[in-house]
Amino acid sequence: MSWKTYPKVELHLHHEGAAPPAFIRGLAQEKNVDISKVFDERGHYAYENFVHFLSVYEAATSVLRTPEDYARLTRAVLEESAAHGVVYSETFLSPDFCGGGDVEAWREYLHAIEEVADEAEKTLGITLRGVITCIRHFGPEKARPIAVCAAETKGGFITGFGIAGDEGKGKPRDFTWAFDCAREAGLHLTAHAGEWGGPQSVRDALTDLKVERIGHGVRAIEDLALVDELAEKGVTLEVCPGSNVTLGLYPNWRRHPIEQLRERGVKVTVSTDDPPFFHTTMTREFEELERAFGWDAEVFGEITRTALDAAFCDEDTRARIAKKLESAE
Ligand SMILES: [Zn+2]
Repeated sequence: MSWKTYPKVELHLHHEGAAPPAFIRGLAQEKNVDISKVFDERGHYAYENFVHFLSVYEAATSVLRTPEDYARLTRAVLEESAAHGVVYSETFLSPDFCGGGDVEAWREYLHAIEEVADEAEKTLGITLRGVITCIRHFGPEKARPIAVCAAETKGGFITGFGIAGDEGKGKPRDFTWAFDCAREAGLHLTAHAGEWGGPQSVRDALTDLKVERIGHGVRAIEDLALVDELAEKGVTLEVCPGSNVTLGLYPNWRRHPIEQLRERGVKVTVSTDDPPFFHTTMTREFEELERAFGWDAEVFGEITRTALDAAFCDEDTRARIAKKLESAE
């Protein structure tokens, strides 16, 4: 069978970063907010580099203000993912943008998101789980209430905690309080590292934050001892090749280290990160990987099962999704 009809599992998707530009433009018009600067003449998100990307991202998402906005966003994101065959998705949610880190306000946003996710499970056949992320460049103090939001709302839907944002700001160890709080609440942990930071940032995330998965982690390839350690420990990397290539981390798909990491035994998975910002989809990721490395249905099947094994959901959900994968084989 072709990978094109094979169900996909995605572990690394930023909720606001997945917002279709047309959806954001429509919302801005409704609210009479001028965010024309964030779009190019073709209506795509426009930015020049990673730091500029972060500011465009924040400007675009500034129109998302109410739980109802997030309900509509969730619907738009899930429709898009389901259209590309995704049957299980984990999305990064930031209470910083949903109620400013206040637990009660966050609960209202979460309720709105969860309601849409439940409905989409029935109508679109896609299961969504939420991983709460603090934002690194907002600093460690701001991360604390976000970890409390995560701990207070842990449950069937909220399954993990992580950190996103500018890897150039601060160190993982600055965030140990937040990660300890989330771990004690029983949440699974992940952290962005080894994208803009080198191999040491991956080591620091593993040692200081004791995470199970690494968001990106691709620059581990610059230190083969670390690559072997990741393989031995079974750490899963949430690799987002299209994001890395678009942001210029690697000059093209063939130069991306995902294949080398996989060959050395590292558990790699494939995700889109902020798909419309990087002009990608899960279909495009798979197409480019097929073209660059000759990956076939067998490799994509293996990648998908690796992703499901590393998913932060409960065992019942994992078994249910596993059945979907098996029946597609
Ligand atoms: Zn990311």
